[in-house]
Amino acid sequence: MDRSACVGDKLRTMIIAIDGPAGAGKSTIARRLGRELGLFFLDTGAMYRSVAAEALRRGVDTSDEAALVQVARGIDLRFDEEGEIFIDGRPGGQEIRASAVDGIVSVVAAVPAVRAALVPKQKLVAERQGGVVAEGRDMTTVVFPEADYRFFLDASAAERARRRVAQRGQPELEEEIRRSMEERDRIDSTRMDSPLRLAAGVQRVQTDELTVDEVVAHLLEVIRGGDRR
Ligand code: C5P
Repeated sequence: MDRSACVGDKLRTMIIAIDGPAGAGKSTIARRLGRELGLFFLDTGAMYRSVAAEALRRGVDTSDEAALVQVARGIDLRFDEEGEIFIDGRPGGQEIRASAVDGIVSVVAAVPAVRAALVPKQKLVAERQGGVVAEGRDMTTVVFPEADYRFFLDASAAERARRRVAQRGQPELEEEIRRSMEERDRIDSTRMDSPLRLAAGVQRVQTDELTVDEVVAHLLEVIRGGDRR
């Protein structure tokens, strides 16, 4: 086996963990990074969103923790090659990005037993795929604290709202989107179980002034340079 094949194999068994607040570009960056490195892209937010979407479909109240846990335990979540999620066999795509889901997902994700149901599924994906670029809120701290590389992608609240609006094409909703994101960040970073936080040893990347290409290039430089900060 020549040296380039060794390097390639090493990259394919790698775990790269990325956390950060809503709208910091985690999905876009993680997907691109996965493609560059030949690693599976694992969108853990899509899993929490799927539980929230399914709870809405079944008319489960968000205060009914037992019922939420039942949804999280019973739901069949799979990803295709592109990292798109399927909920009990149907594509989650549009449904999980609905504003009704934005409105409740952080409450659902704050329930410890819901997290306890999803975390093993996340670890299983990493195991089966032989490596992942995983993004979420507790990848660097709880799910993959031993990841080969850990990053915290950040941006100001105003910039994150602007990006989300551009992504969804609803400029008239900028204020509403900003408020909803801030509320999610507040819940995600103050909950008792697995809060979003910047842990020691995790490299924070402030992305306000950077394009997607620049962020990807920076992360690749760190990874390919073997600089595990
Ligand atoms: O990343 P995304 O915005 O799709 O995540 C939706 C929500 O799912 C987050 O606001 C958070 O409440 C929850 N989440 C989480 N832990 C993760 C990923 C997402 O609690 N690892």
